[in-house]
Amino acid sequence: MTFIEVAGAKVDTRHYIGGQRVASAETFTNTSPVDGSFLGEIARGGQTEVDLAVAAANRAFKGWAALGPVGRGELLMKLADLVEANIETLAQLETMDNGSLLRSHRRGVMPRVAMNIGFFADWAINHLAHEKFETRGHTNNISWDPSGVCALITPWNAPLMLATWKIGPALAAGDTVVLKPAEWTPLSASFFADLTKQAGIPDGVFNVVQGYGREAGAALVAHSDIARISFTGSVPTAKVIAKAAADNLTPLSFELGGKSPLLVFEDADLDLAAELAVEQYDNAGQVCLSGTRILVHESVASSFAEKFRERASKIKQGDPRDEATDIGPQIHQVHFDRIKGFVDRAKAEGQTIVMGGEPNEELGGLFFRPTLIQPSAGSEIVTQEVFGPVLCMQTFSSDEQALEMANGTEFGLAAVVVSGIREHADKITKELVAGTIWVNCFFVRDLRAPFGGSRKSGIGREGGNWSFDFYADVKNTVVSPNGWKE
Ligand code: NAD
Repeated sequence: MTFIEVAGAKVDTRHYIGGQRVASAETFTNTSPVDGSFLGEIARGGQTEVDLAVAAANRAFKGWAALGPVGRGELLMKLADLVEANIETLAQLETMDNGSLLRSHRRGVMPRVAMNIGFFADWAINHLAHEKFETRGHTNNISWDPSGVCALITPWNAPLMLATWKIGPALAAGDTVVLKPAEWTPLSASFFADLTKQAGIPDGVFNVVQGYGREAGAALVAHSDIARISFTGSVPTAKVIAKAAADNLTPLSFELGGKSPLLVFEDADLDLAAELAVEQYDNAGQVCLSGTRILVHESVASSFAEKFRERASKIKQGDPRDEATDIGPQIHQVHFDRIKGFVDRAKAEGQTIVMGGEPNEELGGLFFRPTLIQPSAGSEIVTQEVFGPVLCMQTFSSDEQALEMANGTEFGLAAVVVSGIREHADKITKELVAGTIWVNCFFVRDLRAPFGGSRKSGIGREGGNWSFDFYADVKNTVVSPNGWKE
């Protein structure tokens, strides 16, 4: 089956290499988390396909780099327009493939995919800059040279959004790309490859190799002709990739997991706090940035908990294609079982289950009930990333204790602070270890801002100039005032 039709979209099941569709002898099965339906058999790449794709990307590199930011920008803007024109199709396709809400894909995620391409193309042309400075009359000129072929490895929770967050700056910087999408959600990347062709992106500039991480992914990150590896995924996989990259000293950017705190202080607007806390169930909890550890000042804990439960009781779980649905299914049976395993072990340890704590039997399939647990300090459920609709709630009695608890994991991706007093919030944010902190808000993201994690939540930052600092070879040319003929 070379083509499959999913939610009205025609999707090629083969790899996209050097501008051509390439089949593999083997395939893997793709099913929908929405209803368990069979979506198709997808070409399963390995070393051979990776070698072909890296060679194609290498061949295309010089020509793409030579176009310069403006030449590349014209094509990338066309690509962004094509994404815009296909938002509905991409939204439907992604929902069937990963089970996230159709309404979010339509209104937030897919428009953002177009922005990821257009924004970085524009940034390379109009905004890319660091301070120019003088050293004893000499001028330091900082420039960004294309670096080569980028290996991009992405997860399944926001497949095309996270892929284009890398593809956009890499292509704008003049690099060429080999993308390995997650094996549970390969479809939007394949559809996107067709759009790159329609936009006139030259053959070989953008390539997709599908397959398992341990096969296609491993072959790609170990390849000696790769200039950059950008990976979004879990900490255990990052460790394997870092070892593979070490042999070639390939520069890495890692965006990894989290166990972020959501701190509710005694001076907080508790309605806002409850609202923000319930938002942490978005995408069925499959969001790296989620504030899954709710830490509440003991003096407001019971009022907060009441407001939280009241709001959480209104969450509608169901078909992600339905406009009224707030939470859809988990991505895959393997992941569902992993989430259930965490909750079952918490129960066995005697942790208090305040809400949920079990599959949604009425809906069946991959639906797990939004869950709130009141765990004891140090338990697995409060230290490990579950990546599902499972929140923990603990109390604190002082700012010092709140900070100790908030910073007390191996992660440092994000934090949410809810406080009504600016000085108080300032004091807390200064001490928190996190790549992004939201104060009285959540998920406000700007492509100009640095994004990444501290500690085991990541290596490096992407966004704005930071993306180009990673994807390009940054060069400083120091020009003397002396030695000139004129
Ligand atoms: P994962 O690490 O299992 O897989 C991610 C990707 O890596 C997949 O494409 C997979 O095929 C590939 N892979 C697996 N083994 C590989 C190997 N040996 N070599 C090369 N590639 C390999 O992660 P996942 O389950 O797909 O995603 C969930 C994780 O991603 C969570 O930990 C989540 O927090 C994290 N995440 C982080 C961010 C962020 O921006 N920080 C965003 C989204 C998700």
